[in-house]
Amino acid sequence: MAKIQAPVTKGDVIHVTFTDLTHEGKGVAKIKGYPLFVENVLPGETGEVEVTKLNKGYGFAKLIRLDNAAPERTNPVCSVYDECGGCQLQHMTYEGQLNMKYSQVRNVIDRIAKLPEVPVHPVLGMEDPWRYRNKAQVPVGLSGGRIVAGFYKKRSHDIIDMTECFIQHGESDEIIQKVKDVCAINGVMPYDEQRHKGVLRHVMARIGYATGEKMAVLVTRTSDLPNKEAVIEGIRKAVPGITSIVQNINPDKTNVIFGNQTRTLYGEDVIYDLIGDVKFAISARSFYQVNPVQTEVLYNKALEYAGLSGDETVIDAYCGIGTISLFLARKAKQVYGVEIVPQAIEDAKQNAELNKISNAYFEAGKAEEVIPAWYKQGIRPDVIVVDPPRKGCDEALLQTILDMKPKKVVYVSCNPGTLARDLRILEDGGFKTMEVQPVDMFPQTVHVEAVAQLVWVNK
Ligand code: SAH
Repeated sequence: MAKIQAPVTKGDVIHVTFTDLTHEGKGVAKIKGYPLFVENVLPGETGEVEVTKLNKGYGFAKLIRLDNAAPERTNPVCSVYDECGGCQLQHMTYEGQLNMKYSQVRNVIDRIAKLPEVPVHPVLGMEDPWRYRNKAQVPVGLSGGRIVAGFYKKRSHDIIDMTECFIQHGESDEIIQKVKDVCAINGVMPYDEQRHKGVLRHVMARIGYATGEKMAVLVTRTSDLPNKEAVIEGIRKAVPGITSIVQNINPDKTNVIFGNQTRTLYGEDVIYDLIGDVKFAISARSFYQVNPVQTEVLYNKALEYAGLSGDETVIDAYCGIGTISLFLARKAKQVYGVEIVPQAIEDAKQNAELNKISNAYFEAGKAEEVIPAWYKQGIRPDVIVVDPPRKGCDEALLQTILDMKPKKVVYVSCNPGTLARDLRILEDGGFKTMEVQPVDMFPQTVHVEAVAQLVWVNK
């Protein structure tokens, strides 16, 4: 289809009606079929916008004035909502957010998977959709002679100073403020990105929701931390009961947050958390689910869909630090987990030991290479769980699943579009999608997580 030429010019001020919301949370207004994307508006609203950028096929505009508010409109609680970009849906009621996420999943299951008859359940949301994140990492810099820590302003590297983030655990905010203050008092200069000078680049706070354990990570440009002892003392005093203070060294001129070297300055190397009754050790660098409350909801759904009786062999593809594998292991005969990041597999093995789980085997490698090798070795899973990154499952892996013909596939997905694409491939190969359950892991943001159950029907 030919791309529509823009019927407007940059700088035009026009009156529009918003008819849709993109998966990025932007409102859509169509001018003679040409879509304009606008932040901070909702379907059903009308208003005046200024055209800011035109591409072939679509453009952008900014809201000048809103005429009417949609029933889902609410006031964002955060004072830096417009500048930050971390949340995209604070201007929408939580109920509205859940409905929007439901429609997104329903829509791709209908259109891409072509499964309009498959039930998609209402999104499992949070009772309290705030303060859910267990990990906060913020850049540190200098602004007007003052040390600031917060977020990069949208599409820039200017740091907005922020004292409170409503989707973070309250203690994370406190840890970040205290570390910033203690560093300022003790002459630890913030990092200057332009000149590649200064010391403190990022501060990360991690909280074990179930255990209350707290970790602070100071990412520094230099190995030397000025007034180290005083800084450690200061943080310990300011954050009573802190479990772990860690320094990570990143000497490079880069946007990547962490460097390769990590040392514990005070206390433990790890903090612990629980998902259900499985305990996890989390180091400064470990990958770990950021919303532990909803992770448990999601994994319980995956467990229910797996329908384990204790006799099953289960494969957990894209297993990360083995969270799903270990969650299922107690209900299965044997679990095999595979993950591409070797360090995550080390964590998975340690977490298995920590929980005295001996029927979980972990291997580092690509799921699309390791699982076919397991198949050749004679491993015959009853259930395969996949939890791929946004791009979905590798085609070779989907083919291996079709070859292995497990009784069930449980597909955990962070991207409904690729979920729907892969469901279609599995359906064409002989699986039947029974149901899909979206779970809201990231309230106030546009992210949607969903889990689908498939059964093998084509004998
Ligand atoms: N199941 C885990 C992690 C899911 S995130 C949990 O619930 O916590 C997706 C994971 O897939 C990441 O850990 C990523 O490193 C891994 N990954 C990406 N590509 C992969 C591949 N080709 N093979 C195996 N793992 C891969």
